[in-house]
Amino acid sequence: MRVVVIGGGIVGAAAAHYLTGRGASVTVVDGGYQGEATQASAGVVCPWVDHPEDDDWYRLNREGARAYPGLVETLGEDFGYAKVGALLVAEDPADLEPVRSLLHRRYADAPEMGEVVDVPAPAELFPPLSDTLSALLVPGAARVDGRSVRDALLNAAVAQGARIHAGAATLTPDGEVRVHAAADVPVPGAPSGEGRLWTPGGGAARSGSEETGGSWRQAEPRDPAAAQDLAAAQGLAAAQDPAARNAGAQEAGTRGAGAQDAGARGPEGARGAGAARGAGAARGAEAVRGAEAVRAVGAGAGRVFADEGVPVEAEAVIVAGGAWAGEVCRPLGAELPVFPRRGQILHATLEGVDTAWWPIVLPSDGPYLLGFPGSRVVIGATVEDVGFAPRVTMGGLEEVLRAGLRIAPGLAGATVTETRVGLRPVYAPGRALIGPLTSRVVVATGLSAYGLTAGPYAGRLAGALALGETPPIDLAPYAPTRC
Ligand SMILES: Cc1cc2nc3c(=O)[nH]c(=O)nc-3n(C[C@H](O)[C@H](O)[C@H](O)COP(=O)(O)OP(=O)(O)OC[C@H]3O[C@@H](n4cnc5c(N)ncnc54)[C@H](O)[C@@H]3O)c2cc1C
Repeated sequence: MRVVVIGGGIVGAAAAHYLTGRGASVTVVDGGYQGEATQASAGVVCPWVDHPEDDDWYRLNREGARAYPGLVETLGEDFGYAKVGALLVAEDPADLEPVRSLLHRRYADAPEMGEVVDVPAPAELFPPLSDTLSALLVPGAARVDGRSVRDALLNAAVAQGARIHAGAATLTPDGEVRVHAAADVPVPGAPSGEGRLWTPGGGAARSGSEETGGSWRQAEPRDPAAAQDLAAAQGLAAAQDPAARNAGAQEAGTRGAGAQDAGARGPEGARGAGAARGAGAARGAEAVRGAEAVRAVGAGAGRVFADEGVPVEAEAVIVAGGAWAGEVCRPLGAELPVFPRRGQILHATLEGVDTAWWPIVLPSDGPYLLGFPGSRVVIGATVEDVGFAPRVTMGGLEEVLRAGLRIAPGLAGATVTETRVGLRPVYAPGRALIGPLTSRVVVATGLSAYGLTAGPYAGRLAGALALGETPPIDLAPYAPTRC
């Protein structure tokens, strides 16, 4: 069976990996859009503390987290996954009680979270932390490097025969795929396109750091009706926001260094699986092997293409286009309320300090902290509904820094090495969107702030649907509602 996967973020990469493993002939098309969520993601895998009132949402994230150790084994690559544990921190120890009960309640069905313990002096485990904090440790929580997982999945898919094309895909009303040359997009804060395999890429409604509700951390729309309105308004907001238009103009006009980088690092380079693909990505204009190169004109969400695109034959299509998935599906007559939720995040180094095994730090509100190998600490992230505007802003950085230093004053002397920005794909009804849209098109997006956790699993579920297999869990709760 021939399957086209639109989008090469973590969900599309996982779908391609699963499908090639089942013998399908897979083509992944990725436009290298500025703001891809996966390249910006922090790396927290700790699903048990969230969504106390939505068992379906929780189940997907729990299964996603549970699948990671198997993925490490299958891929046999180091993609930064490590069970370092998570410290849930609070100024007032009483504030930890609701999440303690939630974890206690969930433990029986998720013993992989490990036995939760009190940590009276969390700075002993994460030295820069304020000594006024109390904490619970969730030992089974893990951190992972989003770019590396995506790359490992794509590498494995390519090794199993997948083809990867740099280009922007559109659908015809009957679900046929056409590929246009990708708009050229540098990722702000990641000028080298580091870790990217085949191509560079990577009316304000609300701004604030991760907010909380009944759960320990909450980054989902609280009011589905309001979120629907917001999603409807997003197109207008993005179109009217001069900053978003600027981003679009940059997208249409620049590529360059990242593209060369992509050619050098591509799966074809690593595996010798197709020098032609690397060359195509490096030129940034070639869409489908053997096809005539075409140019695209892109701006924000509503991309307009100057050409009809090159058709790619397939029996099934998976739309894993992240925040852009609604736009991709529109020609099918489906108005999916999917919108972007911006996250700005900061990387710093603490020279000479071994941060590799520091636990994740999760306050109930405001920025979280993660340690990675290489003396790296990640502080993130903002939660902003500002349309397709993948920019690092002064206000965003200030918010992350101020709140980060409040809980970890010991980071004041750290060297800021990088900022990243990504657009979380949010489905307005408030949970993931995975299911068939037509007899040949499956959509998989909406993982919002949990896409690193659930992304590999969601991609696998979408792959199963595309092949007509029965997925391992009931997907009815995530099925698209055609508007
Ligand atoms: C700052 C930040 C921190 C985060 N931290 C965490 C975390 O700690 N833990 C966690 O679980 N999750 C986290 N997330 C969420 C997670 O990153 C996302 O949910 C996840 O990466 C979404 O993956 P995706 O594949 O659906 O979308 P994306 O990664 O956005 O990928 C979509 C891809 O589709 C491509 N595309 C779109 N339209 C087209 C088209 N028409 N043609 C071709 N290509 C197209 C784009 O170029 C893009 O590469 C974070 C997100 C952000 C922004």
